[in-house]
Amino acid sequence: MDTMNTYITTPIFYVNAQPHLGHAFTTIVADTYCRYRRLCGDEVILQTGTDEHGDKIVQAAQGAGVSPREYVDRISAMFRQTWPLLEIEPDNFIRTTDPVHIKTVQAILQRVYEQGDIYFSEYSGLYCRGCERFLTEKELVDGKCPDHQQAPEAITEQNYFFRMSKYQQWLIDHINSHPEFITPERYRNEVLSFLREPLEDLCISRPTSRLTWGIPLPFDDRFVTYVWFDALINYLTGIGYPDGENFSRNWAVAEHIIAKDILKPHAIYWPTMLCCLGLAPFRKLHVHGYWNVGETKMSKSLGNVVRPAEMVEAFGADTVRYFLLREMSFGLDSGYSADALLMRQNSDLANDLGNLFSRSLTMVAKFAASRVPAAGTPTEIDRELRDAAVAMIDTYRREMDSFAFNRALAAVWEVISRANKYIVENAPWDLAKDTDKRERLDTVFYYLLETLRLITLTIEPVMPATAVKMRRALGLDAQADLTTQAVWGLLAPQGIITLPEALFPRLDTGKKKKTEPATAAQNTTKIMTAAENPEDENLISFDDFKKIDLRVAEVVAAEKIKKSDRLLKLTVKAPEERTIVAGIAEFYQPEQVVGKQVLIVANLKPTKLMGVASHGMVLAVKDQGSLSLSAVSSQVTPGSKVS
Ligand SMILES: [Zn+2]
Repeated sequence: MDTMNTYITTPIFYVNAQPHLGHAFTTIVADTYCRYRRLCGDEVILQTGTDEHGDKIVQAAQGAGVSPREYVDRISAMFRQTWPLLEIEPDNFIRTTDPVHIKTVQAILQRVYEQGDIYFSEYSGLYCRGCERFLTEKELVDGKCPDHQQAPEAITEQNYFFRMSKYQQWLIDHINSHPEFITPERYRNEVLSFLREPLEDLCISRPTSRLTWGIPLPFDDRFVTYVWFDALINYLTGIGYPDGENFSRNWAVAEHIIAKDILKPHAIYWPTMLCCLGLAPFRKLHVHGYWNVGETKMSKSLGNVVRPAEMVEAFGADTVRYFLLREMSFGLDSGYSADALLMRQNSDLANDLGNLFSRSLTMVAKFAASRVPAAGTPTEIDRELRDAAVAMIDTYRREMDSFAFNRALAAVWEVISRANKYIVENAPWDLAKDTDKRERLDTVFYYLLETLRLITLTIEPVMPATAVKMRRALGLDAQADLTTQAVWGLLAPQGIITLPEALFPRLDTGKKKKTEPATAAQNTTKIMTAAENPEDENLISFDDFKKIDLRVAEVVAAEKIKKSDRLLKLTVKAPEERTIVAGIAEFYQPEQVVGKQVLIVANLKPTKLMGVASHGMVLAVKDQGSLSLSAVSSQVTPGSKVS
């Protein structure tokens, strides 16, 4: 089979700001998709970089009291240093101040000018410095730029224009005949609807009287290039346009990943520029939504900017990657909170995956001398686990191919839950007591280990370090490969298992913000000891217990919380009506809980989850990947005290 190749890009990030969560998400998506394509046997180039010209950079440099050159060097380095912290490994890091990029941009401008697609004209308009472009009357709100809350300046000036309008019909036809050109579909529709109006030509120059920090037009040195015309070309220069084998091999398979705020330049300016150059358009444009922090969009002025380096310090790179990919439905907006991250870490990672892994390996060490046993004749329950694990790979591939990372991971976690249940159902600790049941015990172990092996393949693109740890412990090569290894039964009997340290520490809720990993691990040990040895010093007094207001509540309404697959919003009577957000959506449908009487902690400090205020906590029992709500044995008056 021929090797396929894929060329994946993030935008080059504008260096007027330091790296934040939004940049990190785009780049994690790109890296995950890149690792996934490699896992499928593709040759992949991953490119990112920094966009360094324009008005805003000059202003930011002035603000910092340094020259634009010093300023861009400093911020560009911050981006370059951030990516390895998140286990992102770009093949190319391009800067628009690179001499080779500048040369290519000028060659392209010259060519487009000579073929008559750039012309000189006078233009009067309303210019917003923040946007670095002319705004139309329609875009203004109360006479101001809605993004910058400033009235634009009326400017008349001569400039160069790209004949974008000439390519409008071609672009409409191309989008219509290539349904996957812009995904998800909502953004494709947005672009098509924009294209229903006549497209204006694009102003691609700025007079040097106003701006000198840019690439000079090769045919008129009184002007520099508009920053977008310069920036978009990075996708070509990074792979050696116009000649170079790299370019001819990779351009046709280019896939761009962007956030929705830069849809228009990528979906309209860029393909028309390519068409004008006689180049095929990129293959796909993948567009994602925003991360809201708390109730609002992340912004510098609100002071709610989330820094990737701080997230990694508190939670570790694998957890951050998992959380972001699991939480966001690609294309839609999503909410970020440290609480939600902590919940994923403790529940999905430490409890579900971490426990499955450590319990399985610990039992194999104890009852099978740390060797992979040979499986005996499988029973129905074994075949069911095997079928679920094999089906998981298909679902995973389908969802990863369509950028539904959250659904791909949900499919994996379903099997993790299934495997945790399988342990309980088979109770290996009991089988081990009876020598007649040796074959049965071996079969159970083999099916567990083999399921874990398949799981390592699926999590590699999302949590590379965890996958390697798991594979080493299972006695496998660090190198995962979906084309040859995704078949049931490849784990060789007699292989040696090694017990790893815990994959994920359980983090203490009180320490989430700035927890040092080492401290977190110590806390974990403490919590675990307390749970396992109830008779030790962690006993509480009766007075302590009396502080907890435990009551019976009756669920009168329940609904799913948008964009969360874990949370249900419950309306309960206790006896007053109150809202409680409960992390039970993976185990209960809303209609299953209405009418139930459950136990709640009524005097918990209110907290907000996914924007919904929760007044209290529903008690539930988590057991081996399943969950049961607490209940009373007979119907009582809602609000009755538990004592
Ligand atoms: Zn503006």
